[in-house]
Amino acid sequence: MILEVDTHCHTVASGHAYSTVVENAHVAAKKGLKMIAITDHGPALPGGPHYYHFGNIKVLPRQIEGVYILRGIEANILDYNGNLDLQEAYLKNLDIVLAGFHTFCYPGGSVEENTMAAINAMKNPHVDILVHPGNPEFPIDIDKVVRAAVDYNVHIEINNSSFTVSRRGSEENCILIAKKAAALGAKISVGSDAHICYDVGNSDKAIRIIKEAGISEENVLNTSIEKVIAFLKSKGRDIVPECKSNTKI
Ligand SMILES: [Zn+2]
Ligand SMILES: [Zn+2]
Repeated sequence: MILEVDTHCHTVASGHAYSTVVENAHVAAKKGLKMIAITDHGPALPGGPHYYHFGNIKVLPRQIEGVYILRGIEANILDYNGNLDLQEAYLKNLDIVLAGFHTFCYPGGSVEENTMAAINAMKNPHVDILVHPGNPEFPIDIDKVVRAAVDYNVHIEINNSSFTVSRRGSEENCILIAKKAAALGAKISVGSDAHICYDVGNSDKAIRIIKEAGISEENVLNTSIEKVIAFLKSKGRDIVPECKSNTKI
């Protein structure tokens, strides 16, 4: 399985990541990726950017070194109602919105509370991808969350860094999530969750889990740039006209 798109990359704007947009794009081009999403953490995360960052993100060129750039966020789910840490006025102008649980931003809760929070966040029409739902720190009812992802046209992320540097103990849950997604035909996205440019596009372990679960390539978002554009269009965003007219660097 070859991935053309990395839907989850951080920059120095996140406060605990160490590369720039340009560096991420450079590595992406070298690795043969066609598109990356710049998805810095939302304002609620300590060290995260002010909401002005997301208001001004339109200054990013549509292409750098031939790699398409999506202007996004990894928003924080704040509570059991699924509220996010960026106002709708900003969310609606982004190309892609990831949402997930993070320490210091979400209080944690029972399986029922976490499940409710995740499902309520996915009901937000601006949310495209539920990130790292296998995190054992915030256990969820996998069956209910994957079913809701199908119902609300949200992709479930298999996060490669969950098997390398972050969220220890995720693998077992991610395997169960992937198997449930395969059974229900849920859509999956793969994120490197790179916090330094060298990790952009890293997806080996996530792909292994996806393949072992029996998820069809068709249901993996990142296997083609056209699939990503079509999905974003289905969520009410059309980046194609701007891509055609915008400056290339
Ligand atoms: Zn981070
Ligand atoms: Zn995250």
